[in-house]
Amino acid sequence: MTKIAFIGLGKMGQPMAANLLKAGHDVIGYDIISEAMAKHRAAGGRTAETAATAAKEAEVIISMLPAGDDVRALYLGPQGLIAALGEHRALFIDSSTIDVETARTVAAAAEKAGHEMLDAPVSGGVGGATAGTLTFMVGGSEAAFERAKPVLAAMGSTIVHTGGAGTGQAAKICNNMILGVSMLAVCEAFVLADKLGLAREKLFAVASKSSGQCWSLTSYCPVPGPVPSAPSNRDYEAGFTAALMLKDLRLSQLAAAQSDAPTPLGAHAAMLYQRLAESGLAEKDFSVAFRWLSGQSRSGLVPEQA
Ligand code: NAD
Repeated sequence: MTKIAFIGLGKMGQPMAANLLKAGHDVIGYDIISEAMAKHRAAGGRTAETAATAAKEAEVIISMLPAGDDVRALYLGPQGLIAALGEHRALFIDSSTIDVETARTVAAAAEKAGHEMLDAPVSGGVGGATAGTLTFMVGGSEAAFERAKPVLAAMGSTIVHTGGAGTGQAAKICNNMILGVSMLAVCEAFVLADKLGLAREKLFAVASKSSGQCWSLTSYCPVPGPVPSAPSNRDYEAGFTAALMLKDLRLSQLAAAQSDAPTPLGAHAAMLYQRLAESGLAEKDFSVAFRWLSGQSRSGLVPEQA
């Protein structure tokens, strides 16, 4: 049994913490929203008045927060956990999806103060968090990774050590840039098929067995019908929201700008998801790009010369 502080008991954090409890760990939860703490108590966990109170008791501190600024505020500065912990040493695991630079900055500050820190973002969504089948992409030292593995194994089924600090976040945004671009490519192909009088199921029959095959097509098809479990069959109820896809594409472009990486398709995908979100579809599943694109005209989305 490990004493774990779990900070951020939202849509992902609550079921992750519940799986740690099921595995027999002592999980002290904290969230700024009292209803989130009540859910954690209902699942059998303890809660604390502040993040620092939870952390001071813990051997491992896991954070699952919305964004990089929240992670900086939690760990850094005079009010942050690193200052609050004093002589108490712990392993920090940040599972939030945040920018690579923040992950590296916070990890360096933690290390300087004598703590170990891993960036361990996840894929698998709320379904994977509930089932305990998340994929963890873990950046940090080998020793910290080995220490974290038994804890992560209670929440996920695939745990990959990606390298040093920040590489977990790098893996997450590279993967999701592939996903954003490939989903849009599949959506565009179905929009074009509709215009050309090619039946959707015929395109699926061909492309799912040909070189156009990809996860966005065969596991998550954005048109209703071919893949019954896909959100397209339930009015694009998320799933993985377009807002989260936009967040991850923006993080990929921030990292690309900082590292001078040429990612024109990632940049264009971010722009398209921004327009989609502005049209009121942010909380729909990201595969709603098919419906959104179907309602657009070519001019304005495609350069004149193309
Ligand atoms: P969420 O908004 O449901 O949960 C975040 C929780 O953090 C909220 O309950 C909020 O009250 C709490 N919080 C914010 N600041 C806090 C603070 N200073 N101290 C304590 N608690 C604080 O978000 P989520 O969907 O659970 O996502 C969490 C992270 O996981 C995000 O970084 C997101 O990008 C990533 N992620 C989400 C999904 C998904 O499908 N929802 C999938 C993969 C990754």
